[in-house]
Amino acid sequence: MDIVILAVVIAVVVLGALGGLIVGSRRKKPLPPPPPATPDITAPPAEPHVGDEAETPREEPRRTIEEVDLPDGGGAPVTVEEPPAPEAPPVEIPEPTAGRLVRLRARLSRSQNALGKGLLTLLSREHLDEDTWEEIEDTLLTADVGVQPTQELVERLRERVKVLGTRTPEELRGLLREELIKLVGPDMDRTVHTENEAGCPGIVMVVGVNGTGKTTTTGKLARVLVADGNTVVLGAADTFRAAAADQLQTWGERVGAHTVRGPEGGDPASVAFDAVKEGIEMSADAVLIDTAGRLHTKTGLMDELGKVKRVVEKHAPLDEVLLVLDATTGQNGLVQARVFAEVVDITGIVLTKLDGTAKGGIVISVQRELGVPVKLVGLGEGADDLAPFEPEAFVDALLGD
Ligand code: GDP
Repeated sequence: MDIVILAVVIAVVVLGALGGLIVGSRRKKPLPPPPPATPDITAPPAEPHVGDEAETPREEPRRTIEEVDLPDGGGAPVTVEEPPAPEAPPVEIPEPTAGRLVRLRARLSRSQNALGKGLLTLLSREHLDEDTWEEIEDTLLTADVGVQPTQELVERLRERVKVLGTRTPEELRGLLREELIKLVGPDMDRTVHTENEAGCPGIVMVVGVNGTGKTTTTGKLARVLVADGNTVVLGAADTFRAAAADQLQTWGERVGAHTVRGPEGGDPASVAFDAVKEGIEMSADAVLIDTAGRLHTKTGLMDELGKVKRVVEKHAPLDEVLLVLDATTGQNGLVQARVFAEVVDITGIVLTKLDGTAKGGIVISVQRELGVPVKLVGLGEGADDLAPFEPEAFVDALLGD
């Protein structure tokens, strides 16, 4: 028995010693050197990096909004911390609108030059035979000028070239410029009517198929109006596209315009009604109403836009109904234009994405189709890339200079 006890004691002692060795050897691992007590002043200051800010502890103490007891009533009170409130972005001052198209002309020239240059090259041929006139016609049709306006233009050019006899490049350019401007319509009223009359703001309804740039255009138009010294209220009546109201509100906040919105999927007409009501209360100069452009059925669209119009007109008649068309969609855009024109009385057209197509002739064909002027053109995704339409500047961009 004594031998057994002795064996157990020896085993315990040996195991204890081994354990000590292992722990001891772990402890012997060298520790990393402690950080220097004072910063190394010979080292260059660290460059700030993206993301540094997030890692740097904020100096200002977090604000406590309330202290609550645990549900069972026991324990220490729990502090609920409110995240620091995001700072409101500063209100931007948009670019002035006068001469915007001239400033953006380079962008237009890049996409439209082919049309003007093509026409000038063809007209400069020594012999203007039938084949050449056909080529001129094709060039115009390819640029979406439309059949009727193309025929008219070719006819006028034929007559004037005949009268001219010998032709210098300058004469040809001048002649083409004049005829194109005539075709675009220099005398059409292209003002966006948004005057506050008798205490009621100018009311603008923006319609168009989703994806054409309707919400973006409404936001950019708010900037155009603010740049010209107006106060604007936005109505986010496109309650069907999930992000549309947020998108519009962001545009509004950037220039200090108030946005009226309703619940997602809610009634667009009631949002439009409230927006105009607030516009009147705030004595705003203009209320811009973004609408949903679901081309599900013509009757559905008619019901929807008709209701918005009727409800808004309980306050005052609409001053403008702007149809937004994507210039890159060509003939398809014209089909959409026709449908909308049957549903509402369009007073002006906004052609977006003219920076991304060589088919600027759509300006001419859509005006012919609807009998209403192109009032604004979109020339990029930038906030101030929406310009009042000017026929001369547009034609100069086509011809390049
Ligand atoms: P909505 O569904 O009709 O409201 O369309 P959005 O306003 O959301 O615009 C759709 C896309 O078109 C966005 O990516 C816009 O930035 C873009 N867009 C709008 N106008 C123009 C324009 O004039 N030029 C270019 N290049 N893009 C544009």
